[in-house]
Amino acid sequence: MPETIFDIAIIGSGPAGYTAAIRAGQYGLKTALIEKDNVLGGTCLHVGCIPTKALLFNAEIWDHLKGAKEFGIEGVDSRKLNWAAIQERKSKIVAKHTKGLEFLMRKNKVETIRGYGKLTGPAQNGVHTIEVSHDGKASHVKAKNLILSTGSEARMIPGLEPDDRILTNIEILSLKEIPKSLVIVGAGAVGVEFASIFRSFDSEVTILEMLPRLVPVEDEDVSKELARVYRKRGISFHTSARVDKVEKTKSGISVTFSVGGKEQKIDAEKILIAVGRKPRTENIGLERTKIKPDRGFIVTDSWMQTSEPGIYAIGDIVLGTPQLAHVGGMEGIVAVTKIAGKTGKPINPEHIPNATYSHPEIGSVGLTEAKAEEAGYNVKVGKFPFTANSRASIVGQHEGFIKIVSDADHGEFLGVHIIGPQATELIAEAVVAMELEATVEDLMWTIHAHPTLAEAMLDASNSVYGMAINA
Ligand code: NAD
Repeated sequence: MPETIFDIAIIGSGPAGYTAAIRAGQYGLKTALIEKDNVLGGTCLHVGCIPTKALLFNAEIWDHLKGAKEFGIEGVDSRKLNWAAIQERKSKIVAKHTKGLEFLMRKNKVETIRGYGKLTGPAQNGVHTIEVSHDGKASHVKAKNLILSTGSEARMIPGLEPDDRILTNIEILSLKEIPKSLVIVGAGAVGVEFASIFRSFDSEVTILEMLPRLVPVEDEDVSKELARVYRKRGISFHTSARVDKVEKTKSGISVTFSVGGKEQKIDAEKILIAVGRKPRTENIGLERTKIKPDRGFIVTDSWMQTSEPGIYAIGDIVLGTPQLAHVGGMEGIVAVTKIAGKTGKPINPEHIPNATYSHPEIGSVGLTEAKAEEAGYNVKVGKFPFTANSRASIVGQHEGFIKIVSDADHGEFLGVHIIGPQATELIAEAVVAMELEATVEDLMWTIHAHPTLAEAMLDASNSVYGMAINA
């Protein structure tokens, strides 16, 4: 039988890799998707976005039940958490979507290949060879184009190893019981989301963040509002904190940290390390190519092409774009579009939404007020609080606001920052507005249904010109 030469071979089946594979299949390209694990979906589906958001939804329901009396619902005082059932529901969701991916691969005629993929060098006569090892046996896959989408893994504090008390995003998702106390190092998305989940389930939570505020990449007003609500929820946190030592005690851990040179200590059952993720680019054969990683990340052009002809990189391993599933997915589409010779559009880093599913939720896109000032724009800001939105009253969630950062000269949206109910959904409107280059005035003439949370976006646009109707 003649040897198969694929049009595209993709290494890694996370959201970046599987999206690329599906789009390649849709274009009729002969596609191979190589995966080292025994399931498709990568970190996001198995130990990231999906199971975490599932737990956050359980936490949200639990919080609603705590406040049931306010809604005239009585008799739920004897409610009980069944942690095993919560875990089972989470696993069912993951299993359903894993099956869904297998179906999508068949539907799009993508050949999935189990094994660890490694580059063997540059293409020979336009054909690349990937060594794929599985169960101690090596085979070779040949393809005209390669896409690397090997993803990332949790960074550790030097000297620590994950186990049943020192946790990363992986271990924390399968705890046998809800910890009574939890220290979280890092107040990025992972840190604040798990703080939210376990506080809802009554754990004593303490966050230690090295930088001066929670969610440091967000607009400063958003960090302040999150800090205010977290304080109210009983989540402790120390910012500008340096973790000096993590030790195991008889039944848990003890963390020594310092803030402004003053040393403090906390004991807890578990510690979650959420200090960022490192790209998985070691041991995939990059040294046999022209690709020279920069602190582990791969440099690409705007079409995701690396410095080695015919090799593309997408997702968490790419230098300069945030490590987010939705970014990886779109980078996959950009790369495949380029390979297929179709018309496409590279990623615009200014139009990437951030979505943090903590309670309250955060959704943001574009420049923060400080970054817009720094960039020299003539900044004009509008802010509308959810306290003045009727739907927020109906759903009983008044925290937060929508803040619009605009350019006073042209009415252009520079950034939109939402904290509050459904912020991760509401941000989509702002992303579309920015992608379509709508002005703030365009939004002011856009009819929003009443009563909706989305209406707060209309009010926030009006507030840029001091003309919000509801505040
Ligand atoms: P992150 O980089 O977003 O945040 C890490 C935080 O830890 C930062 O605020 C950093 O200042 C702090 N930090 C670093 N070292 C520290 C130390 N020694 N002591 C105290 N604080 C320290 O990383 P993450 O939260 O681990 O998330 C990893 C990646 O996954 C990010 O790119 C994130 O955007 C992504 N992610 C996204 C979502 C989402 O979109 N909802 C959810 C989870 C993860």
